[in-house]
Amino acid sequence: MLYVSTRAASGDTADRKHFCEILLEGLAPDGGLYLPEHYPQVSDAMLTKWRGLAYADLAFEVLSLYIDDIPAADLKAICHKTYTQDVFGTAEIVPLRQLEAGLYLEALSNGPTLAFKDMAMQLLGNLFEYELARRGEELNILGATSGDTGSAAEYAMRGKKGVRVFMTSPNGRMSPFQQAQMFSLQDENIHNIAVDGVFDDCQDIVKAVSNDLEFKRKYRIGTVNSINWARLMAQVVYYFAGYFQATKSNSEKVSFTVPSGNFGNVCAGHVARSMGLPIDRLVVATNENDVLDEFFRTGVYRVRSSADTHETSSPSMDISKASNFERFVFDLLGRDGAQTKALFHDQLGKQGRFDLSASAAFQSAAPKYGFVSGKSTHANRLATIRDTYKRFGTMIDTHTADGVKVAREHLQAGVPMIVLETALPIKFAETIEEALGQSPTRPAKFEGIEALPKRVKVMPADAALIKRYIAENVH
Ligand SMILES: *Cc1c(COP(=O)(O)O)cnc(C)c1O
Repeated sequence: MLYVSTRAASGDTADRKHFCEILLEGLAPDGGLYLPEHYPQVSDAMLTKWRGLAYADLAFEVLSLYIDDIPAADLKAICHKTYTQDVFGTAEIVPLRQLEAGLYLEALSNGPTLAFKDMAMQLLGNLFEYELARRGEELNILGATSGDTGSAAEYAMRGKKGVRVFMTSPNGRMSPFQQAQMFSLQDENIHNIAVDGVFDDCQDIVKAVSNDLEFKRKYRIGTVNSINWARLMAQVVYYFAGYFQATKSNSEKVSFTVPSGNFGNVCAGHVARSMGLPIDRLVVATNENDVLDEFFRTGVYRVRSSADTHETSSPSMDISKASNFERFVFDLLGRDGAQTKALFHDQLGKQGRFDLSASAAFQSAAPKYGFVSGKSTHANRLATIRDTYKRFGTMIDTHTADGVKVAREHLQAGVPMIVLETALPIKFAETIEEALGQSPTRPAKFEGIEALPKRVKVMPADAALIKRYIAENVH
């Protein structure tokens, strides 16, 4: 399998790469995102065989379709080392829970940092360690987080040989629990940078540094943000696992609702659907930062300014532009790299928006690709957390609540709806207390973490200063 950039002119085959090259790279040199040059198709026979597999073996089967430069025995060992009951809490790894007839939660948040990002990041940590050792190289990971990516990355990379992590986050905007999770890590290879700004300022800094090719090469800069294809690929696996748990035969369809911010999670659903997994709808749920909902309703993609980005009680979805969205638009436009570049580089760069409302491509987003959307507010969130607790005895986090709220607007008779549970309630305790008047339970290993000493550097939102900081800390 070879990978292409979403901005490569069609027919331009010069820059196609194998998996392990893009694993360590992040953004393509032309500013685009990597995608496989086609989506491998799963047959009925493959689905039947995969239905009975343990999660690690299922992961191996899916990943094998996308990775041709790691020997099968090694890849299998990496999958088995990653997806264990010890790390993820249950033998199923992503158990499905029924809320009521036709409505399910798929638990993706029982890994080390209690958010779905562990599902991909734990794999990434093991892939990085494997590939860097094989090459005898080092990597400096530069990332941006609104909370969950950063901790997931740091817990996946801490103590790993050959890897340093420089993680930027918006100063003061993460929950106390999230800050404590990250800043309490004392590992030498972990650097926390709190940037005075919002998440998108952090993301812009990562892009600016990654676009400085000389700096990137000299300091061996890599990324773990959701633009990294390996993360997306890892996430494809749990769509299969959810489907198998909700159905008895391959003739049945399911829909998924995905609490969305950067469009990474739901883009993995799009990939699974494009491979032939029988998914009916992919429901994109946003919070008050509704740039994606606006697109799927109107065909207009309009990025917000920092000042226009709301600080919400589902903060991991507080984004003003969705960094993975370009991947889907590339597919929507029939994989036309020149047109994708014109939209994302030229039009977004100049006008901060593009409008596909009149195009046949946009008209096909729902019928051909299954995409629909909805949004949720703080009041909706509280009501949904209360309702879910009262009726089903299940405590859900604020992001998952956005998902459940929007999922209910898109239920169809005879099609099970699976809502992806993207975090555990303890990460957002303040809002849970506001909704329920009681605190969520806290896993024992996180007892008292807010009181631990913190290791963090506060810096202005300035790419040049961040570069200097990296240079000073790479030996
Ligand atoms: C990251 C995150 C999201 C958003 O996922 P995307 O892949 O950015 O769309 C939703 N909920 C939680 C809890 C998250 O950590």
